[in-house]
This record gives sequence, structure tokens and C-alpha cells, in this order.
Amino acid sequence: MTKSIPRILLIYTGGTIGMIKDVETGVLRAFDFNNLLLKIPELKLLDCNIETVSFKVPIDSSNMEPKYWIKIAEIIESNYHRFDGFVVLHGSDTMSYSASALSFILENLKKPVIFTGSQLPIGDLRTDAKENLITSIQIAALQRYNKPVVREVGLYFEYKLYRGNRTTKINAEHFQAFASLNYPELIESGVHLKVNFDYLFKPNSRKPLIVHKRLDKNIAIIKLFPGISNILLQSILNTKGLKGVILETYGAGNCTTENEFIAPLKEAISKGIHVINVTQCSGGSVAMGQYETSSKLKKIGVISGKNSTTEAAVSKLMYLLGQKIPTNTFKTIYETSLRGEMN
Ligand code: ASP
Repeated sequence: MTKSIPRILLIYTGGTIGMIKDVETGVLRAFDFNNLLLKIPELKLLDCNIETVSFKVPIDSSNMEPKYWIKIAEIIESNYHRFDGFVVLHGSDTMSYSASALSFILENLKKPVIFTGSQLPIGDLRTDAKENLITSIQIAALQRYNKPVVREVGLYFEYKLYRGNRTTKINAEHFQAFASLNYPELIESGVHLKVNFDYLFKPNSRKPLIVHKRLDKNIAIIKLFPGISNILLQSILNTKGLKGVILETYGAGNCTTENEFIAPLKEAISKGIHVINVTQCSGGSVAMGQYETSSKLKKIGVISGKNSTTEAAVSKLMYLLGQKIPTNTFKTIYETSLRGEMN
């Protein structure tokens, strides 16, 4: 069988990678995608056919919104059969949220969707953009037995491919801007690409791609701090239309045992608001019941986010709320790993 040349679709959403400095104000803003390609003639040397599509108005990823996640998903959906892999150029600020969200939106994904970007614009002499982009394309084009090696949403930055929904942006200065503290990297880029096959997601190969386009944004994140007031808690929990809360707790899922904190949570849960416990720590897992300071949360029906990142927990919540899952099964489904986002 002759090996066909992989076809890769490059989706440009915005971000530093394609930005230029405004001469008058000195601020970085997104610019025309075609200029971006002119800056990387190396792309023509890659052994794959690359086509490109760009957001009409590229955005700084701090302006990211679920409607743009759907837009990215629709671009992938309408090109799914024409391409072997997808590379999404995206600002690094909210890249982990977007990579997590896309992992839930694209069910039964069997092709690589690789998010990447850079800390310095592609035109900068010291830019990290070229390596990130070129290797992302190579990873998206990687095949074994005529099938893509990566069959999930990944995030490539500074020589490492991570599972997208395991990542967090950890640094605004270093080229190594992301970490995946609870899951090993999928691929390491050195002289060769070292693929950690055991850690790759194995999708159900018989099921067709399903693109879930309903996301519910009626959620909140509450990050605990010593001294958090009951009034603050109440006011968030009484937000009109609120359907779910990500509670960022201490350590292994712990929080104050004071009743003025537990009681409003209990009431919210009894009203059908889903409360998910994730840890403020960058690594490790929630283990409700391990300490007295988490037993009460367990007792009132708080859902365990286990070792998922806040980014994954947020997008999973929006996704599952959009699925209109009955309240009595929501906890079980949330606590199940759907796209390898927790264990
Ligand atoms: N503010 C930029 C963005 O997220 C930062 C970056 O691209 O790295 O769009």
C-alpha cells in the first residue's frame, strides 16, 4: 500500500504567535494570518499538505468564549474527512481551557487536534513560535500503520505534547509555559520524537465523531481562602440561573468545617446546583473523606473532581450541563473519566 501524504488543516484563532507590536501604542495585537505564513517559509519543506483557515477577526485568547470553542469544533467537523490532522493556533493564556473544552465537545475523536501557540510573536528573532508550530504539524501528521498516532486533543509547547485536558498555564515568562502535573507527556521532542504510546488516549474506533455544540455557561468558580465570608459565598450561590460551581479547595479537597460555610453549600446542592471539588494545588487529587475537613463536603453530596485541573473541570461542567443529564446521575457521570481528564 502506498503511503499518502498527510493533509493537515491549520486553524488560526489568534494569540501572540501571530501578533505584531503597534508602532504607536506599543501593545501587541493580532494581525493577518497570511502574513504569519510568509514568516515561516519552512512550512513548505514539511512532508505534508497544509491548508489554512483563520478566524475572520483573530482574538487574543483572553477574549476566549464558549462560542469560539464551537466555532473551532465546527471548522474541524466540516473538514474532518478531508484532513488527517488539525493544528489550532491559539493564545497561551486560555489555551488549556480551550483544549479541555474541545476534548469534551469532540466525542469519539480519532484524529489529532493539536493546540499550540508561543510566548513570543513569530516575527521576533528569539521566537519560540517556529519550533512549536513546525513540531505540532509533524505530530499532527504522525502516522503508524496508516492511522494517526495521536487520536485526541493535545497541547504542544516547548518540546512536549501533553493531553490537552491535563494542562495548565504555569508561567507567563518562560518558554515552558505549560505543565501537566497529573499525567505524563504523550510525546517528547528531542533529536527524535519519542512517543509514549502507553499514555495515548484510545478512542472507540467503531463510533463516529459526535460534535456536542450545547455548552451551559451558568457556572462559577469559588476559590477558597482563609477568611472567605459567608456573605460572599451566599451571593455567588444565589446568582440567578446558576447551575454548577467548581469549588477550589485546599490540599486533598479540604475546606473549613464551619457551618456558615457548609450550610449554604448544602442548600445550593438541595436546589439542584452541582458543586464540584477540585484542589487549588497544581498537582495531586481530591480525596474527600481522607480528612475531617473534607468529610462534610462528601456528606452533603459534593462531587469529586478527583485530579482534574480547574480548566478541565470548568469545561466538563459546561459540557455536561449542556447534555441535560438528570440530576440523579450527574454525580456518577461527572466522576467518570470521559476523555482521560482524570483518574
Ligand atoms: N495574551 C496572549 C493570548 O493568550 C498570550 C499568548 O498568546 O501567549 O492570546
